[in-house]
Amino acid sequence: MLNRNSVFVLDTNKKPCDPIHPGKARRLLSEGLAAVFRNYPFTIILKSESKPTKKYRIKIDPGARYTGLALLSDTDLVWCAELEHRGFEISEALRERRQVRRSRRNRKTRYRKARFLNRTRTKGWLPPSLISRVRNIKSWVDKLIKFAPISNISMELVKFDMQKIVNPEIQGTEYQMGELFSYEIRQYLLEKFNRTCVYCGTKEAVFNLDHFYPKSRGGSDRVSNLVLSCVDCNQAKSNSLPEDFLSDRPKILEIINKQRKQPLADAAAINATRWKLKEVLESTGLIVETGSGGLTKYNRKRNGISKSHWTDAACVGTSTPDSLNIRNYQPLIIKAMGRGNRQMVKPDKYGFPRTAPKLRQKSFYGFMTGDIVKAVVTKGKKIGVYTGRVAVRKTGSFNIKTKTETVQGISHKYCKNLHKSDGCTYSFGELVKQKTVNFVKKITETLDSPVQSHMFDTSGLTAEIEPKARRKKKKLKGTDGEQLSLF
Ligand SMILES: [Zn+2]
Repeated sequence: MLNRNSVFVLDTNKKPCDPIHPGKARRLLSEGLAAVFRNYPFTIILKSESKPTKKYRIKIDPGARYTGLALLSDTDLVWCAELEHRGFEISEALRERRQVRRSRRNRKTRYRKARFLNRTRTKGWLPPSLISRVRNIKSWVDKLIKFAPISNISMELVKFDMQKIVNPEIQGTEYQMGELFSYEIRQYLLEKFNRTCVYCGTKEAVFNLDHFYPKSRGGSDRVSNLVLSCVDCNQAKSNSLPEDFLSDRPKILEIINKQRKQPLADAAAINATRWKLKEVLESTGLIVETGSGGLTKYNRKRNGISKSHWTDAACVGTSTPDSLNIRNYQPLIIKAMGRGNRQMVKPDKYGFPRTAPKLRQKSFYGFMTGDIVKAVVTKGKKIGVYTGRVAVRKTGSFNIKTKTETVQGISHKYCKNLHKSDGCTYSFGELVKQKTVNFVKKITETLDSPVQSHMFDTSGLTAEIEPKARRKKKKLKGTDGEQLSLF
């Protein structure tokens, strides 16, 4: 059976209960024991009192464009989502506003002394595009806390654990030379050398970890002796000394020598948003666990799970169970859209007003731009059923953005509100097959007589894929030539 996102359940006092299977929710709804409370994420409200029986943990993998969210109960994945941030949209909108404003003041106002550097910023200030990411995540964590009995939060705080790399002794020798350690190292080196081959400068390649001074020539395992190299360069260099290999390119030798000894100075700055997020999440009062990107990747590979934003989220932190019960999941895709525009008049490309000033009113006929509506059109040219995000007009003739197209001129009379605007738009992601179910084995198990099994063509079915982590269990010692995937 396929796993699907569970349905959130509130009891009659709006207290969160255990999330349930969609089939069970359907039964409760049809028997009149519950009602739909909210569409995204799908939540029902019971008509009786109930209490949660399990504890849940929300796991977060914050990223620049996408953030993965996963809700776990013990070893089971209960719910997952991918949150798309606005990011550059925000800086773009601010830039546009600045330009229009500047040009207007240039035209309309007398000369004024420049006074753009007289502002102070509060402590912990982040640019609007970054803080919006933090707020998007906070708003979703708050929402989930309302709908599910969540007691813990896990988040990926850093790409690599700096302390463990510099001072591996703190974790004992097993960790020092172990698999997890090499994952941290990889993350660190990818970041340090900006995902670029140090020898030829290519970015589009599978990378190896290269011992700058080969081990066979007395080179050490220290991080400062490790560089990032593409497979071709790594093989060409083989076990020659860097001075020999780069004899015709002394400039590059100089650069690498400088770069490899330099610690990653701005590692903390890269993660500024994540530290802010940690602070914000801790304000919810729940216990916040943090993990590194290296640990996430290690956990994911160990469980043989394919890479996506939400699977990464499910593998964040040391609390990740040894076997994670993820089969086929379809994440909820959440896209942050903002809550409208302050701009009163739209300018044309020369900066002149193009439209009449916008009305102060935002809602018309009970609908607001950003609501998700269902329109059943029974008359006229546009007969059909349309579901999607609505853009309202004062005239009552709305536009609906469906999955495939934008339908214009739908009367408000045909529309029914499914979900009130909350600054996001929703869709469902592709059904991700984590491990293909072993149908071949299942069929042979259930059908005992060989005659019957011939009736089924099993040649096209896929067998279970061996998880990758089990195939290679190398230690850091032989990192030369080890494959390093781009991610
Ligand atoms: Zn190269």
